[in-house]
Amino acid sequence: MGVFVGWKYCPRCSAELQGDTASKKCPSCGSAYYAHSAPAVSALVVEDGRVLLARRAFEPDAGLWDTPGGFLEEGEEPQEGLRRELKEETGFEIEPGRFLGTYLDTYGEGPTVASVLNLVYEAAVVSGEMHAADDVSELRWFAADELPADDEYAFRWLAPFMHGWADKRP
Ligand SMILES: [Zn+2]
Repeated sequence: MGVFVGWKYCPRCSAELQGDTASKKCPSCGSAYYAHSAPAVSALVVEDGRVLLARRAFEPDAGLWDTPGGFLEEGEEPQEGLRRELKEETGFEIEPGRFLGTYLDTYGEGPTVASVLNLVYEAAVVSGEMHAADDVSELRWFAADELPADDEYAFRWLAPFMHGWADKRP
């Protein structure tokens, strides 16, 4: 993975770093750095049998369909991050529901590709007007039998995940 691609000097004191692709250590100030997957949250919002998907406005995977959500901020509780991201991207106030699982994926391409750990929750719309914003260009409700084609989904975890959702429909 690519967190440390291009890292040569300590960001705290500018001394030359030691280490490998998994961790770096600064012999001058003692700082240690570890490569982690970036935690992100995603929402499965279902209403009247239809699921809310968001078309990505920016790279990576611009133009493709994604579940609404995004990266957690430092120290942020996952469900708070889910509320914040959904408000930013959809205009909806949501209530997080059942935790559906973790989905490891990648973000971007090339040597600096990032590893992302997605935390996926069910979520219900509580209030607000639907309005695509932030890094979303369009929002749409999809019934189980009219979901996007596999190659119209962003990232890799989504197509199998959405097939799993559609297959469980009554
Ligand atoms: Zn240092």
